[in-house]
Amino acid sequence: MGCGTSKVLPEPPKDVQLDLVKKVEPYTGHKTDVYKHFIKDDGSGGLKTGCPSPPYHIQPYPGTHLVNHMEPHEPRRTRVAKYRAKFDPRVTAKYDIKALIGRGSFSRVVRVEHKATKQPYAIKMIETKYREGREVCESELCVLRRVRHTNIIQLIEVFETQERVYMVMELATGGELFDRIIAKGSFTERDATRVLQMVLDGVKYLHTLGITHRDLKPENLLYYHPGTDSKIMITDFGLASARKKGDDCLMKTTCGTPEYIAPEILVRKPYTNSVDMWALGVISYILLSGTMPFEDDNRSRLYRQILKGKYSYSGEPWPSVSNLAKDFIDRLLTVDPGARMTALQALKHPWVVSMAASSSMKNLHRSISQNLLKRASSRCQSTKSAQSTRSSRSTKSNKSRRVRERELRELNLRYQQQYNG
Ligand code: ADP
Ligand code: MG
Repeated sequence: MGCGTSKVLPEPPKDVQLDLVKKVEPYTGHKTDVYKHFIKDDGSGGLKTGCPSPPYHIQPYPGTHLVNHMEPHEPRRTRVAKYRAKFDPRVTAKYDIKALIGRGSFSRVVRVEHKATKQPYAIKMIETKYREGREVCESELCVLRRVRHTNIIQLIEVFETQERVYMVMELATGGELFDRIIAKGSFTERDATRVLQMVLDGVKYLHTLGITHRDLKPENLLYYHPGTDSKIMITDFGLASARKKGDDCLMKTTCGTPEYIAPEILVRKPYTNSVDMWALGVISYILLSGTMPFEDDNRSRLYRQILKGKYSYSGEPWPSVSNLAKDFIDRLLTVDPGARMTALQALKHPWVVSMAASSSMKNLHRSISQNLLKRASSRCQSTKSAQSTRSSRSTKSNKSRRVRERELRELNLRYQQQYNG
């Protein structure tokens, strides 16, 4: 799921007959390409004015050197030197810059090593020259400075210059959630509940503090280390909203990642932290099947599906999935936010409670990983296709699919080698 999903402000389907759907005004503040993924705030006094959309992602591969997908022909040494040059001397005096591990519209994430302790960390460097970068950075810092939880990436220290902010964070070396599942070789309902328990613990903590993440998705859930017993950590608070004293808990800004956006955001109703619970419903569905509950290349049709809350349990591996698991998902993918489970209720759902304690080992892995692979390929294909010209479309997308499949095979192999000694 790490290929091609982007954060954007949704444009509600024009032909959905709902009074509450208001037309989204296109963003006109910036004309450069850099900002083409930013769309204007709804003007209703929301917290932020735009949502960054990373045009591409680099996935950190578990416990290995990182692969730069964008500049594959550039020697790693040159790339590192290029990024090192962007670092303030105060940062490089303390940390050795090792490798680029992630990239967004305004940010670069690098793996570093503390010179004195040799401890590895991640540094997220955000360009704050432009307003949007500053706002994303402010949101992220405002949240990260307040949180301390085992399932949330910990901020260590911050360096600020006129044009950039450097956030030193704990480093997660275990890779993104779905890369791990594909590579793991087996996946059961019990595994799913264990993953969800950790994420729910983190989300419950955030909600208790009045923080809504607003961009929960598999790419922002990282394994701490490559071992089988690794915990999961929630990252990327660039779109998060922290309630200030005296505020009601309603938010208005329209943002998120299309496939994970809750219906109340689409209809531009003031919303609460239950939007995170909807996103967790989407993640749970994907976790158990490798497919998306709501999916359509056409944004309008996608949003229509979400607004109706229409998804199905047809196809593999759904016949093998328990009714309790489906009940859990149904109670999260509930269109009425008031009727949706809270994080605490989700943690107490019988599926989570009973599965986590049970020894059910029905392996859903084959269908899940096949579906994930299929989806990863087609997402890369459609993302690349959308970006490429008509004439070069098929060649590029076939190539990206082959590259992605090869990477997944390599990843799988690495895991097998790692775990089988
Ligand atoms: P963006 O806003 O651009 O999505 P993220 O904070 O999600 O920024 O970082 C981009 C990517 O960098 C993540 O998807 C993840 O793969 C990697 N990354 C971010 N933070 C860390 C970290 N602390 N440890 C390891 N990898 C990280
Ligand atoms: Mg992210």
